Amino acid sequence: MQIIPDDKFDFKSVLLRPKRSTLNSRSEVDLMRTFKFKNSGNSWTGIPIMSANMDTTGTMEMQRELAKHKVMTCLHKHYTVDELAEFFNSPDTDTQYVAYSMGIVEKDFKKWDEFYAKVSQGTIKFVCIDVANGYTERFGDAVAKFHQKHPNITIIAGNVVTCEITEELILRGADIIKVGIGPGSVCTTRIQTGVGMPQLSAIMECADAAHGLGGLICSDGGCTCPGDVAKAFAGGSDFVMLGGMLAGHEECNGKIETSYYTTDEVEVEFNKDGTVKSSKPKIHEKKVMKFYGMSSDTAMDKYSGGVAQYRSSEGRTVEVPFRGRVETTILDILGGVRSTCTYVGASTLKQISKRATFIKVVQQFNSTFSSKLK
Ligand code: 5GP
Repeated sequence: MQIIPDDKFDFKSVLLRPKRSTLNSRSEVDLMRTFKFKNSGNSWTGIPIMSANMDTTGTMEMQRELAKHKVMTCLHKHYTVDELAEFFNSPDTDTQYVAYSMGIVEKDFKKWDEFYAKVSQGTIKFVCIDVANGYTERFGDAVAKFHQKHPNITIIAGNVVTCEITEELILRGADIIKVGIGPGSVCTTRIQTGVGMPQLSAIMECADAAHGLGGLICSDGGCTCPGDVAKAFAGGSDFVMLGGMLAGHEECNGKIETSYYTTDEVEVEFNKDGTVKSSKPKIHEKKVMKFYGMSSDTAMDKYSGGVAQYRSSEGRTVEVPFRGRVETTILDILGGVRSTCTYVGASTLKQISKRATFIKVVQQFNSTFSSKLK
C-alpha cells in the first residue's frame, strides 16, 4: 500500500493568474483548433468541445445545433441502427462534428458492423469507445481490434485518469483519450467505490503523457461553468466534454415537466379587521427536465431492465431547470473561454495552456448571493 503525498487539484482548487496582454477584445480570440490525428491520419478543424454521449445530451438534435458552431456531439449508444444510419447518411449532417458511441461487449461490435454496412464509405470520422473503467485488458484489446479493422477512423477512448494507461491506449490505436473517473455532475463512482482523481491534475498528467506520443486528450466531466472549461483547456486538455452544462435544453432528450417548490415566502390571508386568517408557504413552479447518469437506476431501468444484482448504481438522477435553446448556453460558454484567453494573453485557444499559471486557492468566488447565480 502507498500514498501519493503531492497535492492534486480540481477545477475549484485553482484560479488562473491574469497576464499582460496585447489583446483588446475577446472578439480577437480564435477558439478554432486544427488537429492532425496521429493514428487515423485525419485532420479536423473546429472548436474542441463535445456534448457527452449521455442519452439526455448526446442527441441528434443537439448535434445539429452544436455543429453550426463547429462543436462536436458524441451520440448516445441507444439509437437504433436504422436511426443512426439515416442520420449519418443525411446530407444535413456534418459528419466532422459527430461521433458514433459504443461499448466493448459483443453486442456493441455486432451493432457497429450492422450500422457500418449501412453508411457510405468514409462517412464515419469519429468513434467513441466508452466504458466506465478504461483500465481493463479487455478494453485495450477492443481499442486495438477496432483500430486494426478501421485504421482511418479517429478513436476517442476512455475513461482513464493516469499517464501509463493513456500512453498504452494511444499506442494501441486511440487518438483522443477521454480523461475523468468520478468528476461528473451525476456520477456517484467516488461515493460507491472511493476511486478517482481530481480532474485538473488528471488532465495535466494525461495530457503530458498523450502529447509526448503525439496523442490528444479530452477532459470528461466536472465542468460546472465556463471558467472550468477554460481551466480544462489551460491544464492541457485538447478537447472538453460536457454533460450537465448542456443538460436541460430543448435539444435534449426528455420531457419538460413542472416542478413545484417552496421558499421562505408565505401567502397570508387577512380578516376584515386586519388580523391574520391564514398563512401558508407560497408554492412556486418552474420548468425542469430530468438529467441522469448513464449508470443510474433511471438509465438501467430504461435500457437494461434494472440494475443487475452483481453491481450497484453509480449515477444519480436530478432535475435541472429548463433553459430553452442550447445555442444561448454554448455561446455563453464560448464567450467565457474567449474572455479567459484575453485575461491570460492567449490570442488562440492553442496558446492558453502555454500562457496558464494556476494559483492554488481556498476560495474560488464570493458566494454571498450564489443561489442567485445561474
Ligand atoms: P458532467 O459534464 O455532467 O460533469 O459529466 C459528464 C460525464 O459524466 C459523462 O461524459 C460521463 O463520462 C460521466 N457519466 C455519465 N453518467 C455517469 C454515471 O452514471 N456514472 C458515472 N460514474 N459517470 C457518469
